[in-house]
Amino acid sequence: MIRTRYAPSPTGKPHVGNIRTAIFNFLQARTTNGKFILRIEDTDRERFVPEGVEYIEESLKWLGLEWDNEEKIHQSERLDIYKKYANQLLSEGKAYKCFCSKERLTELREEQTKSGKPPGYDACCRKLTKEDIEKLEKESKIPVIRFKIPETPKEVVWEDVVRGKVSIRTDIQEDFVIMKSDGYPTYHFASIVDDHLMEISTVIRGEEWIPSAPKHLLLYMAMGWEAPEFAHMPLIVGKDGKKLGKRNGDTAIMDYRENGYLADTMLNFLALLGWNDGTTQEIFTREELIKKFDLKRVGKAPAVFDIDRLNWINGEKIRALALSDLTKEVESFAPDFLKGKNAELLERALTVMQTRMVTLKDFTENSNFFFEDIKYKPEILVFGKSTPDASLKGLKGVLKALGDEKTINSADSASDLMKSVVEAENLSNGDVFWPVRVALSGQEKSPSPNEIMWALGKDKSIDRIKDAINNLEKS
Ligand code: GLU
Repeated sequence: MIRTRYAPSPTGKPHVGNIRTAIFNFLQARTTNGKFILRIEDTDRERFVPEGVEYIEESLKWLGLEWDNEEKIHQSERLDIYKKYANQLLSEGKAYKCFCSKERLTELREEQTKSGKPPGYDACCRKLTKEDIEKLEKESKIPVIRFKIPETPKEVVWEDVVRGKVSIRTDIQEDFVIMKSDGYPTYHFASIVDDHLMEISTVIRGEEWIPSAPKHLLLYMAMGWEAPEFAHMPLIVGKDGKKLGKRNGDTAIMDYRENGYLADTMLNFLALLGWNDGTTQEIFTREELIKKFDLKRVGKAPAVFDIDRLNWINGEKIRALALSDLTKEVESFAPDFLKGKNAELLERALTVMQTRMVTLKDFTENSNFFFEDIKYKPEILVFGKSTPDASLKGLKGVLKALGDEKTINSADSASDLMKSVVEAENLSNGDVFWPVRVALSGQEKSPSPNEIMWALGKDKSIDRIKDAINNLEKS
């Protein structure tokens, strides 16, 4: 059975690149009817952020990436387990205690840099005898435990699901630390112990972890355990081709929520960063992703984080929503926005705005004119090529025509009504449609006057047109 895991470190709010890893692990588990495990890798106490776990869970829940382990897994609560396996390596002579001080290690590094040697631990404590160790421990010196890089193999080779055969020399690796002096394991050790104990079949993670893979493979060999398969996801770059950073889109996933992106958009968009289904399809529902995702179709070329594509997908997803679902999205995005608003007007305003929204913010920030009194400078009622007199004539014509109507049944009938005024009064479109639009929205840029008129309804439209006539006559 395929078992994948997302193993974030709670060091802050998860960013989009990291969440892409979660998505790939989730999809790979779901598409194979496997299991998706969430494991909190909180053994680096210096980088630990107390709210980190909450941020991780909140992000996964928002995206609908449910994990399958019922019990929470926090590595900091499993210290005895790592200790046990570290002791096993010690007793088998595959690891050793190192008492080198920070100062010595810094000096060593400085010397190595000066003489142009690659930096790395010089294995000084490998030579310590049992007596040396006992003596140092009696002096209350607390050691770290280092893994002894074996003489053989001289290189490790693995068949990466994404990159194919990868081989890396091991004789240039230093004896790395597996247990720190604070009693916590390092990432390398904790992750291989847990991946083994949790029966992880496939480790899916970012390309930046490739240099760690040889360490992991050597540890698996030393423990006598079978290694899982590895799939290293391609780098994510900005449109400028540079590594993704704050400036080109790499911010917390929840920032996207705050900016009005749908969870399904982020899922769709991030799934496409490195994967495609072999066709040119770009919009996928959650179900389609689960059905079609295939790790073997992940490419190794850097994936481009293209904000324009993200915006396009969000707009398409918004338009594909039933009105009731869109209302729910707006409600969870900005609960206060809906409070006290007339349900029918809300529905109509959403219908008008749905066709042109890119994010949910476009609704909550640009549709107030439907619900609140409007204010504007009377000059903007007059279109560039029109005159105040012609605009007044247009507004009065529409006012009269509206008075003769029972109701406005559709945006089309509102449009017909205005067209009839253009004809009857011998005016141009700019003398009628423009001032009516400003009269109804108070804005120079807004949806069309016929749509707004339909949404506001006859009475409100009449009120606003009367106000506009007054404003223009006074100016
Ligand atoms: N804790 C590591 C991280 O923060 C996990 C790396 C891995 O997936 O092995 O990304």
